Amino acid sequence: MRIQFERVALIGIGLIGSSLSHVMRREQLAGHISGYSKSAETRATAVKLGLVDSMHESATEAVKNADLVILCVPVGACGDVAKDISAALKPGAILTDVGSVKAAVVRDVLPHLGEGIHFVPGHPIAGTEQSGPTSGFAELFNRRWCILTPLPDSDPQAVARLEEFWRSCGSDVEIMTPEHHDMVLAITSHLPHLIAYNIVGTAADLEDVTDSEVIKYSASGFRDFTRIAASDPTMWRDVFLNNREAVLEMLGRFSEDLSVLQRAIRFGDGDALFGLFSRARGVRRKIIEAGQETAAPDFGRDPTHRQ
Ligand code: NAP
Repeated sequence: MRIQFERVALIGIGLIGSSLSHVMRREQLAGHISGYSKSAETRATAVKLGLVDSMHESATEAVKNADLVILCVPVGACGDVAKDISAALKPGAILTDVGSVKAAVVRDVLPHLGEGIHFVPGHPIAGTEQSGPTSGFAELFNRRWCILTPLPDSDPQAVARLEEFWRSCGSDVEIMTPEHHDMVLAITSHLPHLIAYNIVGTAADLEDVTDSEVIKYSASGFRDFTRIAASDPTMWRDVFLNNREAVLEMLGRFSEDLSVLQRAIRFGDGDALFGLFSRARGVRRKIIEAGQETAAPDFGRDPTHRQ
C-alpha cells in the first residue's frame, strides 16, 4: 500500500486513535504520525507503544504541517480542540473526526475553521467496550462500515481521499448527512447502550437478589448487557448530551413498544410474544448474513468480532 498522507496528526489516543495508528503502520498509510492526547500518562504510553513518530505537548503543535488531522476525542471535546488548532492547520489540510454523533460535531467545529481547510466528519462503526491507548488493534475497522458526512460544500477530492483512507483501513464507506447518521445511530447504537446502562443499574439496585447472584447467573442474558454498559462513561455521556433529539425520538418509540409487550404478558397473549420474538430472530439472521457478526454460539466471543 502506498503512503496516502505524508503527515497524519492524531488528537486523542484512546481506543480509536491507537487502532488507527496500528492500521496506518500495518498498511503504511502515513509517512509520519504526530500525536497529542490530554493526559501526560496517555502521551507516555503512546510513545512507549510506538503509536506515534512524534508526540507533542499541545494539539496545536501536533497538527503543524499535517495533511490529515483526525480528532479521536469524545464528541463534547471536538469544538474546543478545533478552536485550539484552527490557526495552526496547514492550508489544504483535511480535518476529520471519529465521533459517534455528527450534527453536533459539525455545529461545534465548523465555526472555528478558516478558508482552505477541508472538514469531512466521519464515524467508524467499530468499537469495543475498552478504552485508552493500550486497547487498540489494527483489525478493529475490518469489514466495518465507516460513515462519512461531508458538508454540502465539502471538496469532493478531499472526500474521495478520506474514503480511500478508510477503505485502506479495512472499512466499507457510506456517505450520508449528519442528521440522518444521528437518527440511524440513535436506534442501532445509542438506544442499546442506554438500555444496557439502565438494566445494569436496575439489577444493581435490586434488594431481593444479591449481588453475587447477579454475577453468578449473568450468562443467562445479563452478561451481554454488562459488556455494553462497561463502555467509557465520558464518551457515552457526550453521545447522549449531543444526540438528544434523535435519542428521545427513538426512546419514545421504544417505550410505546415496551408497553405493548407489557400488555401482551399481562393478558397472556402468546401469539403477540411469539410473533415479535420470531421477527427479532430474523433480524439477527440478517446481521450474520451481512457479515457484521458470526453465528458461533457465544460463550467467550471471538476477539476479532468484538461489537
Ligand atoms: P477513549 O479510548 O476514551 O479515548 C479518548 C481519547 O481522547 C483519550 O486518549 C483522551 O485523552 C483523549 N481526549 C479527551 N479529551 C481530549 C482533549 N480535549 N484533547 C486531547 N485529547 C483528549 O475513547 P475512544 O473509544 O477512542 O473514542 C474516541 C471517539 O471515537 C469518541 O468521539 C467516540 O464517540 C468515537 N467512537 C468510539 C467508538 C467506541 O466504541 N469506543 C466507536 C466509534 C467511534 P487522555 O487519555 O489523554 O485523557
